[in-house]
Amino acid sequence: MVLAQLDGSISRAIQQMSNATIIDDNVLNECLNEITRALLQSDVQLKLVSDMQTNIKRIVSLHDLTGGHNKRRIIQQAIFTELCQILDPRKSSFTPKKGKASVIMFVGLQGSGKTTACTKYAYYHLKKGWKPALVSSRAGAFDQLKQNDATRVKIPFYGRIAVEGVKRFKKENYDLIIVDTGGHHKQEASLFEEMHQVAEATRPDLVIFVMDSSIGQAAFDQAQAFKQSVSVGAVIITKMDGHAKGVGALSAVAATKSPVIFIGTGEHIDEFEVFDVKPFVSRLLDILMSFVQLPQKLFEGNLTLRMMYEKFQKILKRDSIGQVLSMLPPKSAELTLNDHEKEIQAKFKSYVTVMDSMTDEGKQKMLYIWFYFLNSAREITIESNSFFFPRASGRRVREVMGMLELYKDIAKVRSKLGEMGGIGALPRSMM
Ligand code: GDP
Repeated sequence: MVLAQLDGSISRAIQQMSNATIIDDNVLNECLNEITRALLQSDVQLKLVSDMQTNIKRIVSLHDLTGGHNKRRIIQQAIFTELCQILDPRKSSFTPKKGKASVIMFVGLQGSGKTTACTKYAYYHLKKGWKPALVSSRAGAFDQLKQNDATRVKIPFYGRIAVEGVKRFKKENYDLIIVDTGGHHKQEASLFEEMHQVAEATRPDLVIFVMDSSIGQAAFDQAQAFKQSVSVGAVIITKMDGHAKGVGALSAVAATKSPVIFIGTGEHIDEFEVFDVKPFVSRLLDILMSFVQLPQKLFEGNLTLRMMYEKFQKILKRDSIGQVLSMLPPKSAELTLNDHEKEIQAKFKSYVTVMDSMTDEGKQKMLYIWFYFLNSAREITIESNSFFFPRASGRRVREVMGMLELYKDIAKVRSKLGEMGGIGALPRSMM
């Protein structure tokens, strides 16, 4: 997931700063430049990024950094706050209530993932005890809906005339009646006309605009156009899993002050997440956040996989996770922080499981292979990993990759290798 690349760049930038013995203007500027580069690569608008830089510098300069303050903490906190600011889409204007019939109309361009989002939205609520139903206002969509996951998870649908479907499901006490609307590839008068007609007939309580994130910052214009044409109350951004521009799209939609309520992270019905800005930004920074409080010794290049393993096991204990989370702001979002906590815990658990399945020799061998790739091909692919770990499943390989990335960052492998005389210094038997 390209989002992870952005996550990696930002984390690396902050970590480099964390490693510096003295934090002066140069170190701060370098860190901010790195973050700027990462955000621009993700298609975040230049003005947003430069405002963010200015704000961070302002926050940091407000503190007397020469005094006894924890500079790293202040800077990290400022970065966190500013990223949240850029990505915060505000709250939705309407929240449906369980047990009370709400009509939710989905709009957006064809191919944006609208039908998929309708089904995911229905399924998400079904799992939480709601009684959702799907209505399609578009010709031919009856079959489409019929074929998709809605059938499998037994969400009823109605594919003829939207207004009849809504009426019927209201009578049958469904509390979330989801109306999927027509298909056009482009923003054009007839699309907006059709949206108006369906809205007029079904009188939705909430209009959700569905948008494909691959258009990056162009999302600003698209979100504005839909907002001006129908009263968009919330936004779902799809395909956050596939490309570099997801964060750019998210920031662009946030700039239109349209509340993003969910993001689509895959084709599967389950790949759908509530969008909440703080946990999202925490995740952008999470691996780093988990380590910034570890003893400095770990960052000095003499980390072994065994030490990392032991550290992970410690982190798995609630106390340490709490410590990691204490890095993150507000106690207010207790519930989401708990979710986040579970996520971190699951990640470390998976790393420990991977390492459990390896002998010490295996751990070491894997490191050398990793060194080799760093110094030769540079690009390490899942396929080549499958070669080294033939029995590993795709998921397992990704875990190994994630773990090694983490190891690489923490141990500063590149500089260490330089000291050792490069790849030539490695024992041949290990490769
Ligand atoms: P619609 O024309 O707007 O109703 O779009 P569809 O729901 O038919 O989706 C178009 C394509 O995008 C389909 O192939 C979906 O499987 C795919 N899709 C939808 N949401 C996501 C997502 O979050 N991630 C990925 N990778 N694909 C998605």
